[in-house]
Amino acid sequence: METRYIFITGGVTSSLGKGIISASIGKLLQARGYKITIQKFDPYINVDPGTLNPYEHGECYVTADGFETDLDLGHYERFTGIQTTRDNSVTTGRIYLSVIERERRGDYLGKTIQVVPHITDEIKRRILLNATKEHFDFVITEIGGTIGDIESQPFLEAIRQLRWELGSSKALNVHLTYVPYLAAAGELKTKPTQTSVKQLQGQGIQPDILVLRTEHDLSDEIRTKVAHFCNVDVEAVIQSQDLPSIYEVPVNMQRQNLDAIILKKMGMEVGPTPELGPWRNFLERRKNATEIVNIGIVGKYDLQDAYKSILESLAHAGTYNDRKVKTHFINSEFITRENVAEQLAGMAGIVICPGFGQRGIEGKIIAAEYTRTHDIPTFGICLGMQMMVIEFARNVLGYKDANSSEMDPTTPHNVIDIMEEQKNITQMGGTMRLGAYDCELVKGSKTEKAYSAAATSQLSSLSSHLVIHERHRHRYEFNNRYKDEFQSHGMQCVGINPAANLVEIVEIPNLRWYIGTQFHPEYSSTVLHPHPLFMDFVKACIENLK
Ligand code: GLN
Repeated sequence: METRYIFITGGVTSSLGKGIISASIGKLLQARGYKITIQKFDPYINVDPGTLNPYEHGECYVTADGFETDLDLGHYERFTGIQTTRDNSVTTGRIYLSVIERERRGDYLGKTIQVVPHITDEIKRRILLNATKEHFDFVITEIGGTIGDIESQPFLEAIRQLRWELGSSKALNVHLTYVPYLAAAGELKTKPTQTSVKQLQGQGIQPDILVLRTEHDLSDEIRTKVAHFCNVDVEAVIQSQDLPSIYEVPVNMQRQNLDAIILKKMGMEVGPTPELGPWRNFLERRKNATEIVNIGIVGKYDLQDAYKSILESLAHAGTYNDRKVKTHFINSEFITRENVAEQLAGMAGIVICPGFGQRGIEGKIIAAEYTRTHDIPTFGICLGMQMMVIEFARNVLGYKDANSSEMDPTTPHNVIDIMEEQKNITQMGGTMRLGAYDCELVKGSKTEKAYSAAATSQLSSLSSHLVIHERHRHRYEFNNRYKDEFQSHGMQCVGINPAANLVEIVEIPNLRWYIGTQFHPEYSSTVLHPHPLFMDFVKACIENLK
């Protein structure tokens, strides 16, 4: 079948959950047997989100092929289990960069380079790109930002042109808006939606489907009113009310026939409604998992979105362990030797988070020492793993000045050191060690057991032998010069990248669960395939409670 394109735009405000709706549409079409991909186009000028501070746009998500992307790609993968690539995340900066590079090469033969057609053509080329490399039945394209933003205009113009070129059976627009509730008037207000649709129409785009975000149920009267004002069928006015979990959104969308409406509008056969069995089982299990396990998130970004994938991975693992994981952010900047016991009190386990730079690292080291000496399950991820290593060097090996050369370039005990390949790099964007690399697990280690246990249950898709593939984003590494010393004192290096002989995983086998990974397992946990290390960690946290 020929590829069909679905464009998702948003109006009225940002943060309406376009990413979740895009992922849900992907999920529902996939459940009907279609091959889908989902991509995000962001209007900002950064070439990729890799150089953004997490306070700006939350976590930077990394694809298996080593591209730093928007966190919405995490939702796409967690909902659908697909693997996105560097072609699934595009920014204005990237569009301009390639046009300007072409101009510098002289490819435009002396033409004046303009937003229309050169920038819009490049946007169109990128929208179509995924389907030129691999067949997809549906390509879902989420346009970041809000209708009316100056910087989203070229994207809307590109969509307008594509819809015209492809025809209405091949391209369709789903527009998300917000219906606010005015408490004083006791009314839901549709005017912002009408205005947003008018703006979209002003750009030459007629939405086919409207998804209205709301905190209250919309009456038929309201839906009819919106339909009439916006030239949209009443049945294509869908409501997306607040739900207890983002994972209920696909089911809620299916209940309102969103997927069937899409197919119908594209002139396709609708067929029976898929049951979404495993998905519903997950939701059911999640609902029944009411017993709480408290897990501390030791990091420096006091912002939920900064650790999005870690929180989602813990939630998946909680559900499959029949518990509700309640996370508690513990700001490592304020952890001191004096207050660490109090700060970590009541936690069944802690995660020491990834990060960059000096701020908050001493608190992470103090937390790592406390949990090591009190045998509290601890999961260190990337910088978190590096802090576990530094703590061990300082307090067990006796190197009081041990550090990472990221924090102290002159330390004589650089137990974490810059990678050889990174030494001469001066450019910041896209230059870290990024994406999936092989890692050989040491037989008999806790980590190896965690992975092999998972491979026998619902994680059959993971490799059953001793090589795993996990995604990275770092410049510094465990310094092999100290390897023997660490191992003879009880911290084992149990995962090694064979090509670079790089230590990827450390663990202390004598403790209940004390594991650090140089890679980011959180990028590959999905709703139907929770990550084995998170599964095992949460299990250890539960056992710790007993
Ligand atoms: N700053 C550390 C490094 O570059 C860790 C990076 C991370 O936590 N993602 O190696």
